[in-house]
Amino acid sequence: MNAGPARLTVLAGPTAVGKGTVSADVRRRYPWVWLSVSATTRPARPGEIDGVHYLFVSPERFDEMVATGQLLEWAVVHGVHRYGTPRGPVEEHLADGVPVLLEIDLQGARQVRRSMPDARFVFLAPPSWDELVRRLVGRGTEGAEERERRLATARIELAAESEFDHRVVNDDVHRATDELLDLMGARVVPATHGAAG
Ligand code: 5GP
Repeated sequence: MNAGPARLTVLAGPTAVGKGTVSADVRRRYPWVWLSVSATTRPARPGEIDGVHYLFVSPERFDEMVATGQLLEWAVVHGVHRYGTPRGPVEEHLADGVPVLLEIDLQGARQVRRSMPDARFVFLAPPSWDELVRRLVGRGTEGAEERERRLATARIELAAESEFDHRVVNDDVHRATDELLDLMGARVVPATHGAAG
C-alpha cells in the first residue's frame, strides 16, 4: 500500500464554486475519507441534517466551544453566522490513520495554516468568474442582498488563490473530486480500511 500517513487536507474556495458538491461526492464515492462536520450558528436549510451536514448550535453553545478551545478554527462567514471545526474528531481520525478533509472558508484555512502547517491546502477554483456568478444565481437559495454579500466575499477569496499549495478547477465534479483525492493520496484505500462486505 502506498497511502502514506494520514494528513489533514483543507479545501477552500469562493462561495458557490461547488465545495459542498465536491465534498458530497467525496463522501459518497470515498467513504473512508472523513469529512469534518462543522459547527454553525446558521439555521438549517431544508434537507440539512443536524450532525451530518453541520452541528447546528446556538450562539451561546458556539461561544462555549470557542471559550473551551474545542474549535480548531472558526470564522464569521459572509458577515453573518459563525462556523467552526470541532478539534477533537479531527485529531482522533488523523491519529487513527484516516485522511481528513475540511471544507472551510479562507479565514479558517489561514488559521489552520498557522496551527497545522503540515496540512495540504487545496483551492477549488471556478472555470471563470462568469461561471461562478451563474452558479450563485442558479442555486437560488439566497436573496439578492445575501447574494451580493457572498459575491463580495468571493472576489476577496479568489484573490487568495496563490496562498494555496494546489489549485483544482471545478469544471466537472467527478473529475475535480478525483484530482482532490489524488492530491490527498486517498484514492488508494488501504486494506485496513477496505470496503469489504
Ligand atoms: P453555507 O452556509 O453555504 O453552508 O456555508 C457558507 C460558507 O461557510 C462556505 O464557504 C463554507 O466553506 C464555510 N464553512 C463551513 N464550515 C466552516 C467551518 O467550520 N469553518 C469555516 N471557517 N468556514 C466554514
